[in-house]
Parts: sequence; C-alpha cells; structure tokens
Amino acid sequence: MRAAPLSPALREGGVQPLATQLEEESAGIVVEHVSKRFGGIFALRDVSFRVAQGSIFGMIGPNGSGKTTLLNTINGVYRATTGVIRVEGREVQNLSPSALLRLGVARTFQNPHVFLTLTVQENMMLPTIETGRLDVGFRDEILQTLHLDGLAKATASQLSGGEQKLLEFARAMITRPRVVLMDEPFGGVDAAIKTVMQDNIRRWSSEAGTTFMVVSHEIPDLVQLANRVVCLAEGSMIADGTPSEVTADEHVVSVYLGRRYERKD
Ligand code: ADP
Ligand code: MG
Repeated sequence: MRAAPLSPALREGGVQPLATQLEEESAGIVVEHVSKRFGGIFALRDVSFRVAQGSIFGMIGPNGSGKTTLLNTINGVYRATTGVIRVEGREVQNLSPSALLRLGVARTFQNPHVFLTLTVQENMMLPTIETGRLDVGFRDEILQTLHLDGLAKATASQLSGGEQKLLEFARAMITRPRVVLMDEPFGGVDAAIKTVMQDNIRRWSSEAGTTFMVVSHEIPDLVQLANRVVCLAEGSMIADGTPSEVTADEHVVSVYLGRRYERKD
C-alpha cells in the first residue's frame, strides 16, 4: 500500500495531535460512527471500532445484525450513510471495491463468488486485472500452502464448497493484500479445511502483518483465532473485547440465548 496521505486536518494546518495521527496510521482499519440505512432500515447504527494492523479481528452477531453490511461498507460495495472509514490511515469511505482492491483491501464472501467454469488457476488470475502482473511462483506457493496444488487445473465446479472457500482465500491472497475481510469463512467447511484456513490466516497475520477481519458464527473458532472480537446486534455494536470477555458478556449471551430459545419454539 502506498504511504498514507496526511489527514485533512493536518493538510489544512489543523490541530490534530500527532499521537492521534500516528495511531490512525498504525491501525489496519478504523471505523468511526458508521451508519448504513436502507430505506427505513438502519442496518448499521453508529458503529465505531479500531483494528490493529496485523491483528485478527473477529465479528459475531445473530443473523441480520449487520455483519455482511459492515464488510460491504468497508470494501466499498455500499457507501456509508454517515461516518468515516480509514484503512492504514487513508480515508476510503468513498472508494469503489476495485479502488480498494488496488489499495490492498481483499474480500471473501459468505457464499463463494467463484467462476464455476474457470479453473482454480484462472480464478486466481482475475484480481490481477486490477492489481497487476500475475506472479506465477507466488500463485503456486499459495496453492501449495492451501493444499490446492493438486486441483490447480480443475474447474471451480469440481470443488467442494469448502474448497471453493479456500479458492476465494487464495484469490484474495494473490493480491498481497494489507487487509482481508472474510465473511463466514468457516461456515459449511470441514475440519481439515478449516484448520488449513486458520493456520494460513495466522501465518499471514504474523509474518506479513496482514490485518484480518473475520465474521463467523462459529464462536469456538473465533475464540481460538481472534485477538479481539466485537458483537453486533440489530446494527449496533454491543460488545468489544477479548474473545473470552465478549463471549462471557451478559448482553451477548442474552442475544444468543434469545435466538436459541426462538429456534426451539
Ligand atoms: P448479517 O450478515 O449479520 O446476517 P446483513 O448485513 O446481511 O446481516 O443484514 C443486516 C440488515 O440489513 C438486514 O435487516 C437486511 O435485511 C438488511 N439489508 C442488507 N442488505 C440490504 C440491501 N441491499 N437492501 C436492503 N436491506 C438490506
Ligand atoms: Mg451475513
């Protein structure tokens, strides 16, 4: 990612303290007072948090709580109704998904968005249209670490659902992203693939300083993986802390228990 420009306050000779400026630039993602309204529905209400660069940040919350909307708003699919989003110090809330990809923000989806008639290798070439020349050696290295090398020439339609999620992960990583937004990467994925995915998330975070934001319903997986977790409910952030703090939080427990009882009725 290019060096972050000065914040508007400093550019205009403003008075933003240096410590605040440095803190913003050292954060992978900053979300400040972000709301997103669809007609009369507030899918996000005044959400604010900061994700340390190179950390693994988890997001939980019941269905419909705004998790996917938040990822879509960070990566430019939706424009925030209000609020500011910064990626490594740069304001991005008005950028498109392709501009964000060029800045180093990659994304995976709840239901894999892979091209079924293309091969694994061909799917991995697609983001390089935006980000530049394909590095074949790097592609093969990624395929190997994800145990997809044997399937490089298979079409995506021949892959299992879990393998398609790995392919999406591979396609995100080939862009050498600074930030990766992952929507339910472990949903419907078998234990072996889940382990491969988690090991690779940890490796990129610690070795390359890549920042991960991972949405998951699989709370035990996130407790193991994430440095920090937030919980959304009806578009508002109701908890923010270490995985053990958030999973023990009374409000979080009541939101999940409430849903569990609902399902039994
Ligand atoms: P989650 O990912 O936590 O299950 P979503 O972000 O998908 O939740 O949805 C949050 C709320 O926003 C839901 O009420 C959903 O219906 C609404 N929503 C999401 N996307 C749109 C859209 N494009 N148009 C209208 N409403 C939407
Ligand atoms: Mg969702």
